[in-house]
Amino acid sequence: MAPISLDLAPGERDRFSWKCTPDGKFTFRSAYELLSRNNNTDADMSWKAIWKLKVPERICTFLWLVLHGRIMTNERRARMGLASTAQCERCTTLSEDMLHLLRDCPISRSLWLRMVPTSLQREFFECGTSEWIKANILCRTRARHGTEWNVLFAVSLWWLWKWRNESIFQGNDPPRTQPRRQERLISWKPPPSGWTLINTDGASRGNPGSAAAAVCLRDDTGKWVARSVTNLGICSAALAEIMAVYQGLKLAWDYGIRKCILESDSELALSWLRTEPDPSHQFAHLISGCRQLLRRPWTTQMRHIYREGNRVADWLAKFGTSLSLGTYLYPLPPRGVLGILVEDASGYAMIMNVIVSEEDE
Ligand SMILES: [Zn+2]
Repeated sequence: MAPISLDLAPGERDRFSWKCTPDGKFTFRSAYELLSRNNNTDADMSWKAIWKLKVPERICTFLWLVLHGRIMTNERRARMGLASTAQCERCTTLSEDMLHLLRDCPISRSLWLRMVPTSLQREFFECGTSEWIKANILCRTRARHGTEWNVLFAVSLWWLWKWRNESIFQGNDPPRTQPRRQERLISWKPPPSGWTLINTDGASRGNPGSAAAAVCLRDDTGKWVARSVTNLGICSAALAEIMAVYQGLKLAWDYGIRKCILESDSELALSWLRTEPDPSHQFAHLISGCRQLLRRPWTTQMRHIYREGNRVADWLAKFGTSLSLGTYLYPLPPRGVLGILVEDASGYAMIMNVIVSEEDE
């Protein structure tokens, strides 16, 4: 990957151009037209339509929040630092943004599939968030039992939100267990003799934001074999994590390593590799790529590691978010990570209060 540079004519410089007239010259008439157009947008219409709906006021208020992207999805909570992950807690596969929560999560989807006529389902499930909400709020076609579609839509959104909160916060349907916490001594552990350990990590500042995937290969003495850091541009943390796993496997294979253990602190990324991905999975191509690499004639193991034991990859990934787009391969460790490498090799451990997953027990 490389940044794209425009081939400018020699001597030509960037200049401003007014986009509302064909010749690019500013006129007051075109500016007035632009302003009056903006004052009468779809958003404005659907905003008014919300308050005219024949539904209880609390549902109108909820819709207003939905239209303004203000409901507390996990993706929003993670962005605000209120949740450790943006992952949907019901299906545990994807980030829970508003559209996922209200439409695309399998639980929500099954409700809509029963309500939306088959001929309209494709359109219903394919449009973007604001388009989806506006189109349905403005649709007054009579649905079954003579109720207007926008009323049915609004009430369904409200119930989907309510069920989701009950399922997550009160443990109703499906039954959920509280995560168990335990104090553990966490450290980086070298691989057995003759094996190579691949530590991988992905970072995204802002999720989505400037992101990087990092890989660090070490032998059984903790000696640095290779590293790679890739600045991925703007993308989600989940994509950076799975990209790091892919690059880790690729780098190890290319280095001629035939016995390796891959560690990632992303349980989500590791869980994706267990089965062949659904073609509709947003990272299907990358997951398949990882699985193809794993099928090559070599011995590999995958395991989850706590972030505190994955400090080198963690440091490299954060470092990568400030690099420019591209992959960087260095045979020698950068200065900032030397201290952590020495601590890892000497068995330095930290007591951490960690959430214990079933697999760790
Ligand atoms: Zn979900």
